[in-house]
Amino acid sequence: MKYKHIFFDLDRTLWDFEANSKETFNEIFYKHNLDSLCSFSDFHKEYRKINDQLWAQYRLGKITKENLSWQRFYQTMEAFGKKDEKTAKLMSDDYITISPTKTKMFPYVHEVLDYLSKKYTLHIVTNGFKEVQYKKINNYNIANYFTMIFTSEEVGCNKPNPDFFSFVLNETGAKDYESIVIGDDLEVDIKGAKNMKIDAIWFNPNYMKGDFKPDYEISSLEEINNIL
Ligand SMILES: [Mg+2]
Repeated sequence: MKYKHIFFDLDRTLWDFEANSKETFNEIFYKHNLDSLCSFSDFHKEYRKINDQLWAQYRLGKITKENLSWQRFYQTMEAFGKKDEKTAKLMSDDYITISPTKTKMFPYVHEVLDYLSKKYTLHIVTNGFKEVQYKKINNYNIANYFTMIFTSEEVGCNKPNPDFFSFVLNETGAKDYESIVIGDDLEVDIKGAKNMKIDAIWFNPNYMKGDFKPDYEISSLEEINNIL
């Protein structure tokens, strides 16, 4: 058996980020009576646009994480004629509290982890905050499958930074040639792993086009059983 250690990404690989975010957002929308402004779907559409713009600014260092987290709600409400900083900040707090309690995972998560954990040592490698990511893992009862869990907050840098993967190999005692990463993000997970000579499986459920050939590509987690 070539591989010994399997490193799973969390968001959008095991945890269904899109579905969980939308569900959270729906709760917050009605809690703060925003249905007096517009429909949920219009609000959500506008929010996604603004959120993407603010994330782009955040990556360029033009806005802080704190500002991003409430400005996305503020600017969305503003687009529908409501200027309300206080509500925007409450919504931001709600989002951070409620979102990790959501438990929608991709199909076959338990089946695949059950199968793999009998043959390999499994770990989580995730970009995100410790408090939030551990909550997601614990709320869905998958913590027991994993020997070690690495969040970028604890490691001190994000995937695809080579330092992230060096740290992880070092801590687990895994060799690059006996390790494989499974993730949805071609840049962050797949190229990040390959730069460190670690094999990678690209989880691509939406059949996106990629500019890089991974070792393996799957559209459903179930397919992992044919590879490993
Ligand atoms: Mg991901």
